[in-house]
Amino acid sequence: MTVQQARNGNRWNLNLVQHLSVQAEQEKQQLMQELNVYIVDQEEIDQLSWKWGLRGKFTVKTSYEAMASGPYIENCIAKIWKLTAPMRILIFGWLVIKNRILTTNNLTRKGWELPNICYLCRKEAESVRHLFHACNFSTLLRREITVKIPELNNCQFFQSGSFKAAILSSKLTMVRQMQLAFCFILWKERCRWLFQDKMKNIEAVGEEICQEYTSWNLLM
Ligand SMILES: [Zn+2]
Repeated sequence: MTVQQARNGNRWNLNLVQHLSVQAEQEKQQLMQELNVYIVDQEEIDQLSWKWGLRGKFTVKTSYEAMASGPYIENCIAKIWKLTAPMRILIFGWLVIKNRILTTNNLTRKGWELPNICYLCRKEAESVRHLFHACNFSTLLRREITVKIPELNNCQFFQSGSFKAAILSSKLTMVRQMQLAFCFILWKERCRWLFQDKMKNIEAVGEEICQEYTSWNLLM
């Protein structure tokens, strides 16, 4: 398979890779999820970018910081620690970005025998991408929050962008903080429903996300 074959307009198309093992197919799906965050514009000229600096600019200071943190530190991982939230929630956000939270998808990949189903919509497998982006419940919840905070209405990094994309690319602190609050409370509610069999409606969960987000502003 060539790079040209793998390109499909502005997106990558890896569906040409077939006859994979279950493990390899899952890894392909995960790679697709990560690649879909990046849209390649063929009209745009390639440029060099320093991944540890603001807006891709090289500075001696960031090069020392990169050396101190290790050469392979990921930019978004470094950025997450700059958010204002309790440490346990920052660690949760780090786990989301690394796709390490215990969704049923991740558990079945580790060999657990579970029905791989999203507990919120009960329609699709529960992965990080599904839970926080594609799930119907998640979509309705984002809509509920934009009613409460209209500034988020036209913000692509809140409406459809992933937490990772928001951390990497959004210039608005509000969006980065809100994405973290969104993921954290949604996951908390998902676990509450799973382990305590109690359900809140979308309006109540939306209210809880806004309260969580507002409480972090007091830490600034
Ligand atoms: Zn779902």
